[in-house]
Amino acid sequence: MGLKRPKPFVAVDRRTFLQGTAWAAASSGLPLLNNARAESTGARPTPDEALDQLMAGHQRYLEDRSGDHDLASHRTELAKGQQPAAAVLSCADSRVVPDLLFDQPSGQLFVVRVAGNFVADEGQASLEYGVEFLGIPLVFVLGHSSCGAVDAAVKVVKDDAKLPGKLPGLADSIAPAVKDVLKAPGDLLDNAIAQNVRRNVKILREAQPIIGPAAASGKIRVVGGVYDIASGRVAMLDPAPK
Ligand SMILES: [Zn+2]
Repeated sequence: MGLKRPKPFVAVDRRTFLQGTAWAAASSGLPLLNNARAESTGARPTPDEALDQLMAGHQRYLEDRSGDHDLASHRTELAKGQQPAAAVLSCADSRVVPDLLFDQPSGQLFVVRVAGNFVADEGQASLEYGVEFLGIPLVFVLGHSSCGAVDAAVKVVKDDAKLPGKLPGLADSIAPAVKDVLKAPGDLLDNAIAQNVRRNVKILREAQPIIGPAAASGKIRVVGGVYDIASGRVAMLDPAPK
């Protein structure tokens, strides 16, 4: 990958950076991302404002008042660049659709999906791109009820289940969260789903060299929640690791 943090980045403000040649320099070695060239259209939301935006959208979703997000109507605007309000690390589960459950139009959510919503190198790199080059102020780790990936990890940890293909690697990435709550009271799968979110929030808050420092400085926030498929409700989680 030719993506390098451009030297002028530290010397110019974000508006200048997004509009100027620094972006071209940053993206010139990464043709696939060139069409993500951003143009500043004003102040970016703070991390708290971005979270408010998501939760206001979620309330509309819960009340069946979701907006009519006509993709065609702002296609021209989006062609100029993207300025997403938040990044979401979500499971691949077809029943969990961040753009719908947060009622956000295209261009607002930078969604990284992997079964079990855990941080792996490629996912972290995607989030780093969002934070560093798109100026995203909020990273939301989103787990969900009845997660098959976490359930598979539970079966591996508890029953020594054997999985085919590459699935053992996926289960291994979730297993530490399962082990954390193995003896906790309540439903093991529900506890493991919540702990997996908390654990990955913590991993991102400590991730070097981009996301952790950005979170520590208050430039971004990393938060977590669990989406309940039956009720449609997202419950925010205390980000403490246990
Ligand atoms: Zn899942």
